[in-house]
Amino acid sequence: MKHAPLVQDLINAFTCLPGVGARSAQRMSYWLLERNRQGGSRLATALSAAMEGVEHCPQCRNFAEQGLCPVCQDQRREQGLLCVVESPADVLAVEQSGEYRGRYFVLMGHLSPIDGIGPRDIGLDLLEQQISSGAVAEIILATSTTVEGEATAHYILDLTRNTDVSVSRIAQGVPMGGELEFVDGVTLAHALRGRQKVPPSF
Ligand SMILES: [Zn+2]
Repeated sequence: MKHAPLVQDLINAFTCLPGVGARSAQRMSYWLLERNRQGGSRLATALSAAMEGVEHCPQCRNFAEQGLCPVCQDQRREQGLLCVVESPADVLAVEQSGEYRGRYFVLMGHLSPIDGIGPRDIGLDLLEQQISSGAVAEIILATSTTVEGEATAHYILDLTRNTDVSVSRIAQGVPMGGELEFVDGVTLAHALRGRQKVPPSF
């Protein structure tokens, strides 16, 4: 069956979302047209405004509107402490831990030569500038433990050679409540390498 041109355009537009194929796109389009035109209009307005108005923070590369993001603007944060993460979602995760009071650097990806993603594509030239300007005292590498995440962490570690910047990798390993036998080998190897000395009072 052929859809009316506007309906077909709407269905095609929905398929730009990850994991949304033609069938789901059709279902969402019909649902909005039949049941929730108001919601559809609100979605259209919000989408259009966000696509126009959301930029990247010139300091940390996280999403921001007009200049520095709220985290970079916050002078109470420890300015010399930088946590390097792959995505804005990772920033949220670290924030929710409530443990961290420094700044961030958001790569918006990781090094992946196969996909043609090099250092400049993930802002490592900007990070290098910040390191060489002396603005950074400590870096916490919180990239993922995938091969690409590890390669990215090593690249950043190389950027700090011959500087006074101290670098650490977040401890990774056995999840809380996780049973050892269900943890994969790579994770367990990380956990063993990142082991910490147990205080006498343990
Ligand atoms: Zn920022």
